[in-house]
Order: sequence, then structure tokens, then C-alpha cells
Amino acid sequence: MTDASTIRAQLPATPRELVQGCQDELIAGLMAYVSHPSVSATGEGFPAATDVAVEEVKRAGLTPSVLVGKGRPLVVGHRAGPEGAPHVLLYGHYDVQPAGPRERWDSDPFTPVLRDGRIWGRGTGDNKGQHYAHLQALRLFDEHIGALPCTVTVLLDGEEEIGSPTLADTLRAHQELFDCDLVVWSDRSVHESGEWCVSHGVRGMIRLRIGASGPSHPLHSGNFGNVAPNPAWRLVQALASLKDPSGRVLVEGFDDGREPLSDADRAAFAALPLDLQEVLGGIGLTEMDPAFNGLSFYERLADRPTLTINGITTGDVDRTIIPDTAEAGVDIRLTPGQDPQTVFERVAAHLRVHAPEVTVTMVGGVPASRTPIDNPHTPRVARAISRVTGRDPLLVPAYGGTLPDWIFTGILGVPSIGLPLANADQANHAPNENLRVDYFLDATAICMELLLELGS
Ligand SMILES: [Zn+2]
Repeated sequence: MTDASTIRAQLPATPRELVQGCQDELIAGLMAYVSHPSVSATGEGFPAATDVAVEEVKRAGLTPSVLVGKGRPLVVGHRAGPEGAPHVLLYGHYDVQPAGPRERWDSDPFTPVLRDGRIWGRGTGDNKGQHYAHLQALRLFDEHIGALPCTVTVLLDGEEEIGSPTLADTLRAHQELFDCDLVVWSDRSVHESGEWCVSHGVRGMIRLRIGASGPSHPLHSGNFGNVAPNPAWRLVQALASLKDPSGRVLVEGFDDGREPLSDADRAAFAALPLDLQEVLGGIGLTEMDPAFNGLSFYERLADRPTLTINGITTGDVDRTIIPDTAEAGVDIRLTPGQDPQTVFERVAAHLRVHAPEVTVTMVGGVPASRTPIDNPHTPRVARAISRVTGRDPLLVPAYGGTLPDWIFTGILGVPSIGLPLANADQANHAPNENLRVDYFLDATAICMELLLELGS
């Protein structure tokens, strides 16, 4: 088989030129793909959506398979590269968010249109346009060379938008298919400044429900005040026991095991562009949470766990009652080294002592994931971007949010690198989701360069 440098030499033009030469076909192909609904939350478009994704994998020259677990099927495609070349797993998801209120869209979410240099439709940016760019890069190698520069497995999740609840189990059951050297996932967006990014991790998360109960039904606060205990007071006192007024978490051992940022990560964060006043202005604030004074914007997001009250439900602000129940949703974002189950048990132990009358349950937990920023693959991914755009990408150590990235670093035990391919104003999850055509075409060329770089 031909190696990556021979493949580069045999291509009739650069990847960017090849992509530009067939741009109308690429745009039409993506629009056709986006026109098939695939809403994991409601089932709209399933099971046909899985067949559509399988067809795209086949068209890219890969051998498809469908893995059926307890959730919506995973679509997998595989093609071997040259002997000794690395095996890269490309992760994306073929499910989409619900369209939401149709009257908020300027055009039908599942009838994509090309307007103002963008393709508009549900799933254009999140995530069909992103994994379609990878699939078209593979197809262009098939068309021009009949071979790939490295061994490739494509993994298309069918339920990322509902939190990939069965991905870990399905991957564990078919681990032999994913015996790869590296994962590259394409999701999220490039930096708000428009610069392309290479990213290396995410925070984990656990979600808690903390509840208190009182009388069997809401009571008149005059007829029963001082007689019936009030679950709303029990709940707020339980919540207040978790943090002191300065914002310090009071749960013993809350961040035990936390691995602090490496020097390389710290330096990479310091090099990222940030207009703090603009960021704060955009959310109606003038200063950051004083509880974390002394920490930079990025340290707050990537190097520290959070403890957040998401909401409280109890009683009725318009009626003079003693409520019968009170419940709070709480999430905790985890940093590397923190085990979700251990953190949950510490919070539960704290509440048993300080608020024994409340109940606490965990409704889901995933650990953080981190690939060292100074790993040997990152310079190749960065070079793939700069070969197309002429600019070096931003290297992001980690995002503050949460993705199922730990499945790759934790279960498969391989480095996992994020290569977001959509414009920052893609309006994913919102009305008028869109993908800029210039980003989509550059993305396709970058995906070709990525395989050439990894294979060389
Ligand atoms: Zn999404």
C-alpha cells in the first residue's frame, strides 16, 4: 500500500484546491444530508436517520456497521490504511436537537437553504456539517487515490444530544473495533475571534437532586405555622451548609485528588486571546464572581470544580402556604482527578451530618478528560489547519463544559483531540442554526490534511 507522502504526491492538486473544485457538489451533499431529521430526544426521523448515516459512510469508501445497544444505534465505518500507519478514530454525531418553535426560524429547519454564504438548517453545524467534512475528505481520497493515508474508523453517535447515555457500554462491548492510536472529535465551534482551535479536554459533571418533604399537602401558613415543619426552610438550610458566604465549598474532601494544571496548560491558557470586559459585558456583568478572586478567567473554567444551584422548586410565591415539598437541582463540574462517585458520596455524607432530613440522589455523572497539550499528535493536527488557512490555530488545554470525552481517554485509554469545525455563531440548539460555507470547505480540506499529517 501507498504511504502518506506518496499519496500527497499523487494527489492531482492540494486538498484545498480539490475541495474548491467540487464545492457545489459538497454543499449540495450536505444540504441533502441535513434534510433528513434525526432528533434523538423525540425519535423524529428515526430509524431512517441511521440508514442515511450508513449510506454516507459507504459513500466515503468505508465499510459500515451499525452497533445496536440500549439506545439509538451507533454508526461505524472502517477502512485500513498503509501497513504501520496510525489508526485514528474520528468521532461525531448524526443526531440533532429538536427544531424548537418553527416560527422562530427564517426557513424550515429540515429544508436547508443557502443564503448569505451560510447553509441554514438543524444539524448544519451541530454536527452533520462537521462529520460530513470528515466523510467527504475520506471520499476525496477514495476518488483520487483509492486509498487512505492512515487507518480510519469513523464513529457516529446517535444520541449525543441526549447525553450519550449508552455510548460507554456499547464501546466496551465492541472494544476490538476501536483499537486506535488517537481519537479526533469534531464538535462545538472555533474560537469567537474566528481562529481555528485544537482542544485537549473537558470538565466532568455530576447532577444532583436534593429534596425535602413536609406535610402531606400544602397548608394554610396561619392555621399551621409553627406546627408543621417547612420543607423549603429545610432545603435552603441544607444548600446553605454546602458553601460559606465567601463561596468556599464546605464539603470535606470536595476536591481531593484534583490534578492541578500542568505548566504547559497554564502557558497555553495565558496565550489565548481574551477580552474579559467584552465577555462580561455580553452577560450583563462588570466583574467576575468575587468568590474566586485571584484566579484567571480560564483557571476558573478549567482548573477548579464548581458547585452550582441550577434551580429550586417549592411552594407558590403568591399564596400564604407552607409547601409540601421542596427540591433543588445542583450540578458539580469536575476537574481531572475527581471521581464522580466519590464526590457524590462526600456531598451525601456532608448532608447526612448537616441536613439529615433532606434526600440526595445522583442523576448522572461523567469524569473530566484531559490529553496533555504537549502530546506528539497536536503539532500534526495544528499543521493540518495551518496548511489550509495559513494561520496557526489556538491550542486550548480544556473547555469548562462537558462532553463524553472520558470514554476515549478513560475506556479506550488513548489521547483525544478536539478539532471544532463550525463557525462560532452557528446557533446550535437554537433557531436558525447555520454553517458558514467557507468554514465547511476549509474544514473538508483540513480533514484531508489531517489524515496526510497523521499518516506521515
Ligand atoms: Zn449539540
